[in-house]
Amino acid sequence: MQKQSGWKQKSKKDIQEIFRFCEEYKSFLDRSKTERETARYIVDYLTKNGFSGDCSGEKVFRANRGKTVIAFRRGEKDPAEGLRIIVAHIDAPRLDLKQNPLYEDVDLALLRTHYYGGIKKYQWVAIPLALHGVVIRADGTTVEVAVGESDDDPVFLIDDLLPHLARKTQDEKKLSEAIEGEKLIVLFGNIPLVGAEKDAVKQYVLNILKERYGISEEDFVSAELEIVPAFKARDVGIDRSMIGAYGQDDRASAFTLLKAICESEAPKHPCLAIFADKEEIGSEGNTGVQSAFLQLFLYDVLTGMGIKADEAVIRKTLFNSEALSADVNGAVNPTFQDVHEKQNACYLGRGICISKFTGHLGKVGANDANAEYTGKIRRLLNGAGVIWQSGELGKIDEGGGGTVAKFLAVYGMDIIDCGAPLLTMHSPYEISSKIDIHETYRAFQVFFIS
Ligand code: MN
Ligand code: MN
Repeated sequence: MQKQSGWKQKSKKDIQEIFRFCEEYKSFLDRSKTERETARYIVDYLTKNGFSGDCSGEKVFRANRGKTVIAFRRGEKDPAEGLRIIVAHIDAPRLDLKQNPLYEDVDLALLRTHYYGGIKKYQWVAIPLALHGVVIRADGTTVEVAVGESDDDPVFLIDDLLPHLARKTQDEKKLSEAIEGEKLIVLFGNIPLVGAEKDAVKQYVLNILKERYGISEEDFVSAELEIVPAFKARDVGIDRSMIGAYGQDDRASAFTLLKAICESEAPKHPCLAIFADKEEIGSEGNTGVQSAFLQLFLYDVLTGMGIKADEAVIRKTLFNSEALSADVNGAVNPTFQDVHEKQNACYLGRGICISKFTGHLGKVGANDANAEYTGKIRRLLNGAGVIWQSGELGKIDEGGGGTVAKFLAVYGMDIIDCGAPLLTMHSPYEISSKIDIHETYRAFQVFFIS
């Protein structure tokens, strides 16, 4: 039953195609460092591919508050017979600026952060960081910020203690306590404003913010500013087989989903692609999948098709649907193999990973896909020659995790988790294998036209 490396099954020409596909993936990652930037990329791409906001059209999309997008394309069959749905999330672990972030100490201007999602805090110190986001000014106007991406931009950094002085303060502590959340403080400036009596360095950076962006200190209160790694996506390995980049959880799924829905011509069943926000903090809020946006969009789309879309019709449509919860999985780590039960784990390079269930401590909080539906997906992938593997996240009771699957399963649809395996998942620089990204894309295409 143990699967083998998918690379073995690929010809030289196949590998060229995989590498070509991943060049576009890398440029997507570089332009999509936040959920808002990812949503914008998706909207632009959908628009270029004939999707519009007109619900009477064949290909429709809508964005919700610039952070989540849903795209629909009509099929041959009546929507009430069920849709083909794939959902991916476009938020990623990061550091948000606090609402009153700026202060001065020891002649430095500094920014306080509040981390978002599951991070290992020690991974965020002493690496180049970028600042992205939006600020709503006092008069209601919006200004966008993105600093740290182009080669001549400055970057930001969180200080770490030199090893010479870390013995008591850090080295004797648990790894999870050596860098605390409140210590994730960003270096922001060092030049004092001439003539300022108090907080001269802070005054100097505030002047820059005023001149460059027209923002005042109070404007931080109505801002969403995110500190993200300033790294670009790069090939990893002497054979260039892998990709290192921030945010591949879950933009690996978002990119492949975007390509798949645009390329699924004349599908049997109507197709729905959901690009969700807030998965990393429980899918809460008005941009997470638990919000009413999906039902509202569906109502408008069905109405646009001339269907009398009452609540019963929408419920029936969702109940009869089949779905993939597209999310990445933790691949067997070469140096920490003990956290995996290797007979039921996923491996880099063995294709898209199907996870029948998620959860922790005895499948608690899981979506557990039915055997019948799992079998259907298996037949579909085997029939199309997609390279896939089956895997769960880690050994029993080692930890665990969930995805959006359970929130869509409440509608009664069939749904199963699947996605590319990653190394260094949730770190500032996650690693994927190019073949797994490409097989994920192939799997989504096959699913949409099934
Ligand atoms: Mn994820
Ligand atoms: Mn995640």
